[in-house]
Amino acid sequence: SNNPLDNYESLEVIGTGSFGTIRKVRRKSDGQIFARKELNFERMTERDRKQIVAEVNILKDLDHEHIVRYHDRFVDRDNGILYIVMEYCGGGDLAAIIQRCRREGTMLPEDTIWAYFLQIVIALHQCHHPGLRVHTGTTPPPASASDDRRAQVLHRDIKPENVFLNGDNVVKLGDFGLSKQLAGAGLASTYVGTPYYMSPEVMQEKPYDSKSDIWSLGCLLYELCALNPPFHEARTHNELAHFIRNGRIPPLPRAYSSALAQVIKAMLNVNPAMRPSAQQLLQHERLDLAFKLAN
Ligand code: ADP
Ligand code: MG
Repeated sequence: SNNPLDNYESLEVIGTGSFGTIRKVRRKSDGQIFARKELNFERMTERDRKQIVAEVNILKDLDHEHIVRYHDRFVDRDNGILYIVMEYCGGGDLAAIIQRCRREGTMLPEDTIWAYFLQIVIALHQCHHPGLRVHTGTTPPPASASDDRRAQVLHRDIKPENVFLNGDNVVKLGDFGLSKQLAGAGLASTYVGTPYYMSPEVMQEKPYDSKSDIWSLGCLLYELCALNPPFHEARTHNELAHFIRNGRIPPLPRAYSSALAQVIKAMLNVNPAMRPSAQQLLQHERLDLAFKLAN
């Protein structure tokens, strides 16, 4: 058979996405395990389909240690389904880690938070500054030898559920806003849950840019420390919008260093221009140290 679906043996369902299920699959040729996401085409307009295909093509080219690797894609025209085969992340996601801490009344060690932070920033650096070499510390960056002119990729949906761990505890940024940029997805349909991680500029329907990803990462780091997103005490959508615009972040648990609290606060600056870029974050002395320890 030349049906690409037949190259994989379906194993259990591991998640439910907005456009279909995610399954664990085994490639028959070599037994390798992957995650296979299905996107139901039939509910999408022609424009949405084009958008998805364009998006998948971008993801295909993101080949990075800290980004969930896309392996293959194929279309089942009869059933209107696009399948995306990607790296399987067996360590769960950061949402599960946060939940476990909350349930057990424990806190994440600060070193663990810096280690996750570093790996996510390295992934974002690759997306936001393609072609630039990862460079930590305060010495001047090496002259970039490459003339890589790839377009910038924005994640658009950084949150604990979208940051995965593989079996070796290596962080993998996944689930790029694939279903997010679909035409007609206004603010209301973009966020089905409470939009705790929405940046002030996106809240005001201004364009999304790389600094909006930085805001969301700041929220994620905050949640790793506090085990609740910032502004979670908002009771209504309007109240949340008000809290976000004012940018008054409740303090982090005192167990964490002021260095960590300060960098999170900088990422949660209401003014996007004032937030550090991924490249600037890599200059942070604590991330530089974590980088050297890891490499
Ligand atoms: P959506 O686009 O609707 O947000 P996701 O891609 O986030 O869908 O997938 C939903 C769930 O499926 C995730 O929270 C996770 O539990 C599981 N999942 C998705 N991708 C993977 C993967 N590569 N490896 C392991 N589990 C995954
Ligand atoms: Mg998701």
